[in-house]
Amino acid sequence: MDSMRQTLKLKLDYDQLTNCMRCGFCLPACPTFKETGLEAESPRGRIALMKATVDGVMDPDVPFEEQMSHCLGCRACEPACPADVKYGQLIEQARDAIETHTRQHRGWVRGVRKLVFKGLFPHQNRMSLLGKGLRLYQKSGLQAVARKTGAVGVFSKQLSDMERILPEAGGQGVVQRFGTRVAAKGEKLGTVGMFRGCLMDVMFAETNRKTVEMLSEAGFEIVIPDTQNCCGALHAHSGEIDQARQLAMNNILAFQAAGVDYIVSNAGGCGAILVEYDHLLHDVPDWSEQAVWFAGRVKDVSTLLAENGRKLHFRKEEAGEAPVRITYQDSCHLKNVMKGGGAPRKLLSDLPGVELVEMQDAGSCCGSAGIYNITQPQMANQILDHKMQHANATQASYIVTSNPGCLLQMKLGIEKHADREHVQATHVIDFLYDRMVKR
Ligand code: SF4
Ligand code: SF4
Repeated sequence: MDSMRQTLKLKLDYDQLTNCMRCGFCLPACPTFKETGLEAESPRGRIALMKATVDGVMDPDVPFEEQMSHCLGCRACEPACPADVKYGQLIEQARDAIETHTRQHRGWVRGVRKLVFKGLFPHQNRMSLLGKGLRLYQKSGLQAVARKTGAVGVFSKQLSDMERILPEAGGQGVVQRFGTRVAAKGEKLGTVGMFRGCLMDVMFAETNRKTVEMLSEAGFEIVIPDTQNCCGALHAHSGEIDQARQLAMNNILAFQAAGVDYIVSNAGGCGAILVEYDHLLHDVPDWSEQAVWFAGRVKDVSTLLAENGRKLHFRKEEAGEAPVRITYQDSCHLKNVMKGGGAPRKLLSDLPGVELVEMQDAGSCCGSAGIYNITQPQMANQILDHKMQHANATQASYIVTSNPGCLLQMKLGIEKHADREHVQATHVIDFLYDRMVKR
């Protein structure tokens, strides 16, 4: 206990802990508080718990660790906070300290974490192999057998649910498809370094292809450094800070060598950590300046297209055709960290023949939150149930998102709570590209 308290003391920013004036303005923004009504499940409550452990008022015991892992890390509490408490940093610091000592993870959770954080995500070649294996599983008939026999559900009901909504994997990644440089169409407006994303480039390879083609159409030359790796978001949010830093340093080197004006991401979860590399590396000797260079160039693809790109042309609606009704589910990290929730809405609402209807609480987390929906299935499902009630109330035919995790969670929500014949979930780039008229 005492050694964990020492580590918490060392890692937690005490000034940030005391900045919290306990006003409670953040409570209505917090999904876990909204679901439970419990102070301990709120940002204010979690900050109080962190401070109490550091001050020696309570022990950093298993319930404390569990409470820290109940947080989604969605950071909806930050924009709501008048004192500008950096809650995202506090929860990462607390989890980092816990990871140094913890024994709380059950066997299979520990296994999933090790596989995800160390075995898979840092290695793009392994991610590609996984994609190919998954494609074989999907195409060979194995998937059908596994579903019929219920074999997938042996490990966990949640994993079995997730398996049902996996997209077709194993398409060509952007570098295999285009090489590392793609020319701008027409007059060049700038050079964009594309952050391909380890999951995006395997599970959503088509979205990545469309991203490249849209950026070129909008006037950007695209460079895709092949030496880039995972952004480190999952690692940082789960207490694996040292590994997140290593991944960040590799990415900085890769993009500096490419000489780019912007670094673009089409996944809110990745973009949010990329834009905070300056914070992640602020106390790593010799890296802070380079990290500032990198973070200052990061933009979400929707923001870049809406603010800096050439105007794109889209298919006109046919006379008498009813508009397609869509709704937009925010990526928490795009909205709360990158402050980029407006750009996708602008691009979508400008589309001819499309009616964007806001769902209630569109800015509230869908329960995906990295691997939260696997490690905390009960809360994730409860949040998803409510999200789908709001999405269904819009009667939209499409739920559009800006992040692969949210997209999978929305697909899961449709599978469980909506009419699959009439509603589908899609990435904003897919939705735009499919209506774009190319030069
Ligand atoms: S990050 Fe999200 S879940 Fe965690 S305390 Fe803040 S609002 Fe609540
Ligand atoms: S809004 Fe900010 S200052 Fe107020 S309780 Fe929440 S974290 Fe503390």
